Amino acid sequence: METIIRKTDPFRPDEEVIAQGAKILQQGGLVAFPTETVYGLGGNGLDADACRRIYAAKGRPSDNPLILHISSLEELAGIVKEVSPAAKKIIDAFWPGPITIIFPKAECVPYAATGGLETVAVRFPSHPTAQALIHAAGLPIAAPSANSSGKPSPTRASHVAHDLDGKIDMILDGGSVEWGLESTIVDSTSDVVTILRPGAITLEMLEKVVGQVAIDPAITARPPEGLVPKAPGMKYTHYAPKADVTLVSGPKDAVIRKMNDLARQSMAEGKKTGLMSTDETAPLLQADAVLSLGSETDYAAIGANLFDTLRQFDALGMDVVFSQVFSEEGEGMAIMNRLRKSAGYKIIQAQDEKGE
Ligand code: AMP
Ligand code: MG
Repeated sequence: METIIRKTDPFRPDEEVIAQGAKILQQGGLVAFPTETVYGLGGNGLDADACRRIYAAKGRPSDNPLILHISSLEELAGIVKEVSPAAKKIIDAFWPGPITIIFPKAECVPYAATGGLETVAVRFPSHPTAQALIHAAGLPIAAPSANSSGKPSPTRASHVAHDLDGKIDMILDGGSVEWGLESTIVDSTSDVVTILRPGAITLEMLEKVVGQVAIDPAITARPPEGLVPKAPGMKYTHYAPKADVTLVSGPKDAVIRKMNDLARQSMAEGKKTGLMSTDETAPLLQADAVLSLGSETDYAAIGANLFDTLRQFDALGMDVVFSQVFSEEGEGMAIMNRLRKSAGYKIIQAQDEKGE
């Protein structure tokens, strides 16, 4: 299949390009498009065949459900059974925006979209290109991240083309996305609103709106063998570049020393070695490649650059990558969740000179 790639101004999307994408979606085809989080791979969310095509293009396990994207609040009533008072508060505070809410599904939503579940995940994105495309299609659009399953999510159209060229009908190229990590996911069907995946809408922001908020244990640690996390996607290897990633945690000076030691050792073993750093630590590190995620004081930049940087290490042919870690506060929870998964939960503890 030939993939059509069309550029569009992300903020003032070209009507003709949008009409072409909408037509493909209405005919059951697949269109990748930018959102404020990452690029999504869109298909008609009410058409089981289109959903199956999404799974096939990504190589995604079929029990990992899709998020349905809408372009107005009116569309929500058609795809969910009920909206709880807590969900209503979250919608009022954060939609359109980077948060996905789990609802009991309406009958018309196929099990092919929900991975067989009775619930459906819904998001109303704020990105003008995403809104225009969904609106023009006149359908709820199932849109997981537009990457090959398991790889880092795409934050540029070139990442989508790298993974899916020839497997999907169209890519709308709207440049780099704004936030760069996938949406926050909350379950509104449990007694207490529960975060299933951290994102730009943080725990602290949600607590202000709904009071008590729980955090699914799969966010901070590898789920124990046999336990199925509430967001089925959380159990799969994710965000993993080809390089073998390991995190290094501890006091700052000790982390810098440890990363340099680890890099020296690994290069001596003949492995091409990368270090993932910040603007502040990069000048103090030596390896085959030292890439900075941005300033340690700018978590928005670190989130936006994370997936692109992991892909850059692959493009540079690195065998091994060591990365520093970040605080879990605010946006840091989303950054650390993705980093831990990209490293397959491998963390080395660096100790300071006193061994503490
Ligand atoms: P992606 O669209 O690739 O960012 O992945 C969507 C995420 O949403 C996956 O981790 C899914 O497991 C999660 N998800 C989608 N639908 C549901 C649902 N009904 N219940 C719980 N998690 C869901
Ligand atoms: Mg994904």
